[in-house]
Amino acid sequence: MREAINIVWYKRDLRTQDHAPLLLATEAGLPTLLLYIFDEDIVTYKDMSPRHHRFVYQSIMEMNQNLEITGHQIHYCYGKSATIFQAICQEFDVKQVFSYQESGPQHTWEVDKQVAEVLKEYKVKWTELEKDGVVRGLQSRSGWEDHWYDYIGKPIIENDYSWQGVRWKRVDFELPVNFLEMISVKNADMQPGGERAGWNYLHSFATERGRNYQRHISKPEYSRKSSSRLSPYIAWGNLSVRQIFHYVRFHPNYENHKRAFRAFLIRLQWRSHFIQKFEVECSYETVCVNKGYELLEHEKKEDFIKAWQTGNTGYPLVDACMRALIQTGWINFRMRSMLVSFFCHHLDQDWRDGVYHIARLFLDYEPGIHFTQFQMQAGTTGVNTVRIYNPVKQSKDHDPKGRFIRTWVPELCECPDEFIHEPWTMTSFEQEMYDFKLGEKYPEPLVQLEESGRRARTKIWGHRKNKAVQEEKKRILAVHVKPGKSNGAS
Ligand SMILES: Cc1cc2nc3c(=O)[nH]c(=O)nc-3n(C[C@H](O)[C@H](O)[C@H](O)COP(=O)(O)OP(=O)(O)OC[C@H]3O[C@@H](n4cnc5c(N)ncnc54)[C@H](O)[C@@H]3O)c2cc1C
Repeated sequence: MREAINIVWYKRDLRTQDHAPLLLATEAGLPTLLLYIFDEDIVTYKDMSPRHHRFVYQSIMEMNQNLEITGHQIHYCYGKSATIFQAICQEFDVKQVFSYQESGPQHTWEVDKQVAEVLKEYKVKWTELEKDGVVRGLQSRSGWEDHWYDYIGKPIIENDYSWQGVRWKRVDFELPVNFLEMISVKNADMQPGGERAGWNYLHSFATERGRNYQRHISKPEYSRKSSSRLSPYIAWGNLSVRQIFHYVRFHPNYENHKRAFRAFLIRLQWRSHFIQKFEVECSYETVCVNKGYELLEHEKKEDFIKAWQTGNTGYPLVDACMRALIQTGWINFRMRSMLVSFFCHHLDQDWRDGVYHIARLFLDYEPGIHFTQFQMQAGTTGVNTVRIYNPVKQSKDHDPKGRFIRTWVPELCECPDEFIHEPWTMTSFEQEMYDFKLGEKYPEPLVQLEESGRRARTKIWGHRKNKAVQEEKKRILAVHVKPGKSNGAS
C-alpha cells in the first residue's frame, strides 16, 4: 500500500521559520515531504542566471544542515514540476500540497497550471497561501494598505519539526552534473545565500549600518554599506518580510534612528505594492503598463545595447554601475533607475531589450518589483512622472570624487578628479599629459547627452497627451492606485 503523505512545495520561501505552509502541514499531521524543484522551464528562462540558482542552492544546503537534527530535509530535484509531482503521486498516496502563492511571470503560472492538472487527476488538494500581504484576485486597492499592516503585524510563526519526514529517492530527477557544478561554485563577490547570512545582514543593519540609511541611500559607494542589502534574502525567502519588519520595529536602536528605520520599513510595503500590481497584471513582463506607449517606435541598435550591457558606454557612472552589477549583483535604487533611464531615454532603446539583462544580473531579482520598476523608469506607465536622469549630474552629485567610478572602471584610475565625470572634455594635450587616450583606453561617449536628452523629452513627454495613453491612464488608476491617493510608490 502506498504511504499517505502531504507535501510542502518550496518556491521563493527558503527558510525554516515563519513558514505558513509548513505550519498547515504540521497541523495536518501526516508524514510530510519537503520539496524544492529546479523547474527546467523556469531555470532556463531568459530572466534567470547561475547566480540565482547558486543562491537557491546555498539556501537549501544550509537549511538541510540545520534540519539534520530534526531528521528532516528539503528534497531538491531537477525537471518539469508536473512530471515530478506525477512521479511522487504514483509512489505515494499524496493527500495535500501546501505552498505559498507565487506572483511570477506568465511561464511560472503555466507551470502551476500543469501541476494543478496532475494534482486534480490524483485528487490531491493544493492549498496556496498568501505571501507578504499580496492578495490574489484583488479588484481594487481600497483597504489594501490596512490589509498589509494586518498581515505584517501578525505574530511570527514558530515552526516545529515534530512531524514525521518522508524518504523519497529522486533517482530520475537528480540535478544534471553540469548544472550542479555550475551552482556549487563559490563566488566571494556576491552575497551568500541562506538564513544565517540574512540574519547577519539584518542584525548589522539594525545595530550599526542603518543609521546612515537615508543619508547615503543614493550614493553608489556608501549605500553598499548603509542600505540593508536584504533584498536577495527577501527575494528568495531566506527571511520573511514579517520577520524583518518585527526585528527592526522592535529593535532597541529603533528610537535612536527613527527616521531612517521608518524610511526603511515603508519600503517593505512598497515591495508588496509593486508585487501586487504584477500579481494583477503579469503581462507587465512583455507589454507596456500603459498600452498607449506601444505606439512609440525605437530603432534597435545592437551596438548601443552591447555597450550598455558590458559597461562601455563612455559615461563613467553608467559603466561603473553596470560593471559593479555584473560582478556583485547589487547597486542601489537610484543607480538602477539611472541605468534604465540611460538605456530607454538617452539610447532610445525599447525597454524589453534591456529588462532581462539586468534581471539576470540582480541577485535580488523579484519579477513583481523588477518589471514594474523598469517600466516606471522607462516612462511607459503613463501615471508616473517620467524622470530622465543626466548621468553626469548624478555622477557629480553622488560620486563627486569618483571613488565608485575608479573602483569599477580601472581604466579611469589615473584620471584626475576634474575629468572623472566627463573624460571626453580633456584636450589632446591633457590626454597626452595624463597618458590617457580617449577611444583607446576608454570609449568615447555613445551619445551627446544634451541632444539625446532633448530628443527623449520631446518623445516621451510629448506622448503623454496621446488619446490612447489618456484612456489607459484612467484604467490603471482605477485598478492599481488607492482611490484618492497617489503615493511615492504609485
Ligand atoms: C529598474 C529597477 C529594478 C528593480 N528590481 C528589483 C528587484 O528585482 N528586486 C528587488 O528586491 N528590488 C528591485 N528594485 C528596487 C530597489 O532598487 C531594491 O529593492 C533595493 O535597491 C535593494 O537594496 P536593499 O535591500 O539594500 O534595499 P533597502 O533600501 O534596504 O530596502 C529594503 C527592502 O525594501 C524593498 N524595496 C526597497 N526599495 C524598493 C522600491 N523602490 N520598490 C520596491 N521595493 C523596494 C526591497 O525588498 C528591499 O530589500 C528595482 C529598482 C529599479 C529602479
